[in-house]
Amino acid sequence: MSVYTLPDLPYKTSDLEPCVSREALALHHDKHHGAYVDGANSALSDMAAARESGDYSALNQLQKNLAFHLSGHVMHSIFWRIMSPDGGGQPNGLLAKEIDKAFGSADALREQLSECALSIQGSGWASVAWEPLGQQLVIEQVHDHQGNIGNATIPILVLDMWEHAYYLQYRNEKAKWVEAFWEVVNWADVEHRLRGVSQTNLMLSDE
Ligand code: FE
Repeated sequence: MSVYTLPDLPYKTSDLEPCVSREALALHHDKHHGAYVDGANSALSDMAAARESGDYSALNQLQKNLAFHLSGHVMHSIFWRIMSPDGGGQPNGLLAKEIDKAFGSADALREQLSECALSIQGSGWASVAWEPLGQQLVIEQVHDHQGNIGNATIPILVLDMWEHAYYLQYRNEKAKWVEAFWEVVNWADVEHRLRGVSQTNLMLSDE
């Protein structure tokens, strides 16, 4: 039995146009995200088979596969939901407060996250994540889907900078994709995520 399933998009594939074309969105969700779901399920079932047979000769590769595909599944699952046809504008409430505390202003966050996205070498994501030890938001430049992050940070706003996210529409003009992304960010969903994850306790002290 599969552990992971591909979630439906929370809107129609044409709803994010012109920022994300119908064709690009359908391909990205159905094929690319779908492949990460399949890959995560395969890694888990291959590990179960290894336990069954006692043959752990492929375990190192299976661990890499699990980290890559599971992280791809998580990041895309967040990505679809933090975009909306009614997106754009400014963050509010608790989110605005935490952004101001960590970055100074929403404009400063936008500028740093955009620079983070545009300076990725190869495939990756620019991510705003809740960091439970310092109890604050941080920006992380994620390599592939899973590298270059601090343990236990929880992404709440993610920007896909893999070529499959923009090349069909924007070709090599990455900056145009980043600009378009800001027009569809669903700040209400990002705040909803922050409210949930900011309760996280790492159990590192008795308090
Ligand atoms: Fe992607």
